[in-house]
This record gives sequence, C-alpha cells and structure tokens, in this order.
Amino acid sequence: MRHFLMCFLGMLFLYNTSFAQKTIQPSSSEIYHSLQKLNFLGTALYVAAHPDDENTRLISYLSNGIHARTGYLSLTRGDGGQNLIGPELRELLGVLRTEELLAARRVDGGEQFFSRANDFGYSKNPDETLKIWNKEAVLGDVVWAIRHFKPDVVVNRFDHRSSGTTHGHHTASAMLSVEAFELANDKTAYPDQLELTKIWQPKRLFFNTSWWFYGSEEKFQKADKSNMLNLDVGRYYPILGTSNNEIAALASSQHLSQGFGRLSERGTQDEYLELLKGDLPKDETNIFDGIDTSWSRIEGGEAIGNILNAVEKKFDFGNPSKHLPQLLEAYTLLQNIQDDHWKKIKSEALKDLIADVTGLYLEASSESTATNPGGKVKVTIEAINRSDAGMVLKSIRIPSSDASLNPNIPLKNNTKQNFELALNVPSETEYTSPYWLNEKGSLGMYKVSDQKLIGKPETPRAFIAAFEMDFNGTTISFTKPVIHHYAKPEKGELYQPFEVLPRATANFTDKVLIFADGKPKQVPVTVTANSDNIKGEIQLCHGEGWKVDGDTQSFEIAKKGDKKTIFFSLSPPADEDENYISPILKIDGKETTKELVTIAYDHIPNQSVLLPSEAKTVRLNIKKAGEQIGYIAGAGDEVPESLRQIGYSVRTVPPNSISASSLKSYDAVVVGIRAYNVVDELKFKQRFLLDYVKNGGTLIVQYNTAGRWDTQFENIAPYPLTLSQDRVTDENSPVEILAKDNPLINFPNTITPSDFDGWVQERGLYFPNEWSKEFTPILSMQDSGETPKKGSLLIAKYGEGHYIYTGLSFFRELPAGVPGAYKLFANMLSVGKVSEQ
Ligand SMILES: [Zn+2]
Repeated sequence: MRHFLMCFLGMLFLYNTSFAQKTIQPSSSEIYHSLQKLNFLGTALYVAAHPDDENTRLISYLSNGIHARTGYLSLTRGDGGQNLIGPELRELLGVLRTEELLAARRVDGGEQFFSRANDFGYSKNPDETLKIWNKEAVLGDVVWAIRHFKPDVVVNRFDHRSSGTTHGHHTASAMLSVEAFELANDKTAYPDQLELTKIWQPKRLFFNTSWWFYGSEEKFQKADKSNMLNLDVGRYYPILGTSNNEIAALASSQHLSQGFGRLSERGTQDEYLELLKGDLPKDETNIFDGIDTSWSRIEGGEAIGNILNAVEKKFDFGNPSKHLPQLLEAYTLLQNIQDDHWKKIKSEALKDLIADVTGLYLEASSESTATNPGGKVKVTIEAINRSDAGMVLKSIRIPSSDASLNPNIPLKNNTKQNFELALNVPSETEYTSPYWLNEKGSLGMYKVSDQKLIGKPETPRAFIAAFEMDFNGTTISFTKPVIHHYAKPEKGELYQPFEVLPRATANFTDKVLIFADGKPKQVPVTVTANSDNIKGEIQLCHGEGWKVDGDTQSFEIAKKGDKKTIFFSLSPPADEDENYISPILKIDGKETTKELVTIAYDHIPNQSVLLPSEAKTVRLNIKKAGEQIGYIAGAGDEVPESLRQIGYSVRTVPPNSISASSLKSYDAVVVGIRAYNVVDELKFKQRFLLDYVKNGGTLIVQYNTAGRWDTQFENIAPYPLTLSQDRVTDENSPVEILAKDNPLINFPNTITPSDFDGWVQERGLYFPNEWSKEFTPILSMQDSGETPKKGSLLIAKYGEGHYIYTGLSFFRELPAGVPGAYKLFANMLSVGKVSEQ
C-alpha cells in the first residue's frame, strides 16, 4: 500500500542512530520506562511483507504505551524496491533496508524478524507470489516466528481476503499469518522445529484495518465496527517527553532509502483492529484484555512481581541505584523459575536495568574495524561504575577466542578501569557477512541451512565480550559485542561493528561487459587489501570460447585498505554468447573469490557484504546507425553507461541547457526514467524537445508514473497519450510483434520473439493505455489471465522526426546484459537513419 514514491526532502536527524553499537546510558525517566516494560508480560507480533509496510504508530503504541514486547515480522527484506539514497539494489538494498528496519525499531522499541522470502519484484496477486516463494517454507518461517516469539496477539497489516487489490506480497503475508495462527500450536506441523522450540497458540489475531481498505473515509465511517477495537494511539508520554505519533514518525523516517523521511504529528489518532480469530475483548480499547500480562502468568513469578512492582511504585528518580538490592533479589529469584522463555527474556531486561541504575558502562573496542581469520587485534576494555553500589569486576572473556583476563577488582564510584586484551582470531572463524547471502538462493527464496538463524535480522556477531561482575555475592555476566570505537573530526564519535574479512577481495568495475564486435577489451579488476603486506596471485576464470592474455598475474599490496587495479585482456568468441568471468585470489595458499561491498550511511552501522565476485560477458552481433546520443537524466538509471558499452557516444544534457541549438548535434535524445516526475524544469523545456523531433530528431521517452502528476503530462508527447497503471510483471510473459514491418523491428537489427528471452524482473510498467491515431503500437504483451497490453512501445512520426514512448524496462535489462534489449534499443536510436518507405 505504501509503494508509491514520495518527493524526497532532506530531514534533520533528531536521533543519531549511528550510535547503534554504543551502550546508550538512559536517564532516570527512561530507566523508569524500562522498569514499566519489565513489569509487563505480554507480547504482540505485527506481520507484513516489506520494510516500510509496518505501522510504526501501532508498534510504538504497543511497545511504549502498553509496554508489551512487540515484534515486526517483515516477510522480506525489501530487496525489490528502488533506492533513493545510493547505488545499492537487489540483495544489497535488502541489507540496507534490513538495517533501516533495525534503526526504526531502535526508535519505536520493537524487535525485528524476517522470513527467507525474497522481495523478487511486483506481483499482482498472492497466487503469483506464492508460486515464486516456496509457500511451505515461508509458512514454516511464520510458524517458527510465532513459536519462537510466543505472541499473545498477532496483528496483520494487510487483509487476507483482498486478493488483487494490493501487491501480491501484501495479501500473501496476511494469508500466511492466518494459516500459521493455528499451525504454530499443531505438533504435526513442521515437527523439525520442535527440536529447538515448543508449540504455541496465540490468543487473538487481528487485521489492522483502516479507511484505505474500504476505498474512502466515508465508506469506512459507515462500516460495521462491532468486531473491531478502536485504539487512540496519539497519546503523549510525559516520561519520554514525546508523543506516540512523534516516535512513530521518527521510526518511519529511518526508511530513507525509500524516501520516507516525514514530518512528525501530534494529537489523538484512531487505529482500528478487526478481530479475525480468538475472542473479542470485553474492553474494546485493550488488545490484551482477559490475558494475564502480570508476573503471575509464570510459576514463581508472583514473588518477583511483588519486588519489582514495589520498586516501580516508589521509584527514586534522583538516585535510581538505591533500588539495586531489590533488583538483585528479583534477579536471583528469576534464575530459579522453570519457564525458560520468560526467564531468558526477563533476565536480559533485568541485567540491563541493573547496569542502568548503577550507571555501569562496559565496552570492548578493537583497535581496527576488521581483521582476518588467524589475525590478531588489540581490544581495549573500559569498565566504570557511576554509583555508590559495591561491585567487583571478576573477569573478562571473549568466549569464541582464548582472550581472557581476571582483574578481580572493585569498581569504585566514577573511577574508570581500562584493560587490554589480545584477541587472536581463530583461523576457522567465518567471515562477517549477511548470513542469508552466504548460499545461492532462488528467485523467490534465500537459502539458510541453519534453522537457528532463520528469522534473525542480522548475522550474530563473532566476538562478544563477557564481563563477570559480583554484586555482594550475586554474580551476573554482562555481554557486549566487540566494536570499533573512534572519532572523525567532521562526524564526531562513531561506533562500528568489528568484522572478520578475507585478507584481500577483488571486484570488477563493470558487472556487465558487452562486446559489440570481436575486439578484445581491457578488463580492470580491483584488488583491495584487508590486511598489511599481501603477496599473491590473481587468475581470471572465463567461459568457453573466451580468451584471456596472461591468465595469472602476481601482485603485492603493502598497506591494509590500499587497492591495486590489475588489467586482463579479454577476447570474445566470434558468435553471440553470454558467459561469466570471475577472479581467483591466491594468498599464502588460501583461495578466495569474494568481492567486498561496504554499505555506509549515517543512519545505520556500516555493513560489509561479501558476494561472489563475477561479471557477465556478452558477445553481441549488434548493428547500429547514428553515433551521438544526448541523455536527459531522470530519477537515475544506468542506461547511458550501457549505451557507451556498445560504442555510442553519450553525453548528459543538463535540463537547464536544453535549447534548439544544444540538441541539434544529437542523432537521438533519450529521456531517463521518471524524468517528467522528478525534473520540474522539463515542463518548460518540452517545447524544445518536440521542436527537435519536428526538425528531424529522434526522441525516446522512457517510463514515467501516472497519477497525481497528471497535469504535467499535457504535452509529454506531440500527440495525445494517456499513461496508465498497466504493467507486465512476468519477465517471461509472451511477446507478440504487432508491427512486423516497422523500422523498429527491422533496422538495423531484425527483432524476433527470441529477443524477448532472458529478460529480468519484469517486461515494463506504466504503459500508456490510450493514444491518438498517429502512434503505432509495436508490441503486445500481457501477464497470465489479463487482457493484452499494447502500449509498451509506441512510435509516431512528427514533422521530420520520430517520437518514441516506451514503458519497457530497459533500465533493468541493459545493465543486466540482456542481448535482445540492446538490439531493440539500438533500433530505437537508429530509427531516423533508415530511409522511409
Ligand atoms: Zn509493501
């Protein structure tokens, strides 16, 4: 429902989430808020399909207003979306959006979960979605999430009964949640999971409805609401000095790659929950009504509750450390209860609270951001107690290594203790990288072999420091991930994850190399050192029929972080071919073929992603007429780079320079994707573009979105043309050539149905559905079960020139090296060069 694009306005960061790795020392009122949460034993799980689907108002309300453990299960990581802030797409965008979700949860207090489903692209209905996802596996992941998180209530973002009215992923997420609701409690369903967890039955299932699902606010007003709860989620939290909607807006604003930076809101706000399963609460404003959410819900919990509720009642905001004895007493009692689920959750929360009330700060910071398996790194420990409470730091260990220290010293009020640990990274330590990208998955699914990892937002950190503390006889072990803590003059203090990386990695500058003729190309490979003093060899593997001059080359890099570019001369075969090349690095007898991608933004911790290093090589027999191409950039695409690869000279035309004289020299002018949506100036320059066509030029306009920008489209073309929502999402859907004699199909390349093989992601989008008689539709295509769409490629003669409008997804096909798309594009650029019949 939220997959429209918004104008991206820069936003002010109120909350600097780059401190994600830092121990944030809470104020007394924030400690009190944690105490309130500690004394609430209820759990809610929100379910939807993508990062940014989640209703942060409701998540924040449940977490901060009700104090419930609140999770968001996003079935996908949002790999299929667009990126408004940087170059990451597909699986890399999935990594970025995973971190944006975690940043959102740090703001609204929720927890984050995923399934193995991949956001493969748009689907029009859930049947299509569930064919591409492995339905049984994704359903199993929802069951696993419920069994693991044990929610009392589950809330779906989308309506499971509304197939076809929204993205198929959306409806599918709700359908799977409805199905999983009972399966989670069925011993015969997914029995393998029960070796690691237990069955669980949530009490209620809701659909988080709103007027949007009814078509209008009026219709929703009239709807029967007897089966709905109505919550005011606009409440103000004096303890936090902010209101629920302000927290929610700040959380949503972490989705920067989607352009979700938005203004905060204040005041009352209604949310509606339609009951799907379970009994309707008597109190229609309380989703936990009738569910015991007190300490009494667990055996042996009452005594703990008595202690902690008394602390909450008489909380001392001026000196919270006063409550340490009671917190320790509760902690000791908690260790004796039988309920492992709550014991684990509440022990962690209580430990945090014990550290918070005493101002206890513990940190393990490595001297560098990364090292290699078998490497050695110094870790600086900081430990300080900022209260009068008595405590002894007994030992510090990093369990997955042999690093340990036994200082056994009292931590006195406000007296800092520093230690150094030598961390010898075992040679078998795995590289840091998102676990779901370690194995090759399918179009619809990530492959994750370890059930214990499924659902987790991130790969668990390899190195965690354990601090064993003694509080007058009560021993508590606090854990902190090893981080890298440093400062940058222009950014201030920064905390980043500590990572384990290969000694060197290699990547190609171009991921797709197009050979439009038989000549060899120099292929640059950049080797990056992730440690000092590297000596090694690099070899380029290639497909059959391709030739490399100097298969193996040696290289040396002295300093970590330095790069070296090595060139290989690659010759293509004579005939058309699609293949791959990949480098193999050999260092000290160890081989790697990985590429390292670093994702760095201010709103998330830096991410290192290791991917198989490879590039696609395509030998094309392509003909073209014309040479000079002008490109008017829109929302951003790589089409100019692709056209250069097949030998065109492409120059970017800045919108303010568009004039009759500046366009004259081009054989064709191409307008980038969504240019009329995002470049306001084009409205005023359009007459020059149309005059250019009139005087004999060729203008190619790629897709723009229809909708609320309609008024801008009055003269997008020289003749009437109506953009629609028509799209063909199946990249394999059959294509019929309607205008077999048109130059677009014949000159200089002959286009046949096989040129539509091997397309990626989709055929195209936002096709015109009405056009005046001057236009000739060239192609017809449709998704299964739909009527033929004929507006994907339209051409009209105007004056002496040609105007082409196309919603075909060239911006996806060309960078992916799809041969047929190159030939068709070359024909579009050549259209004015053929003598008219
Ligand atoms: Zn969505």
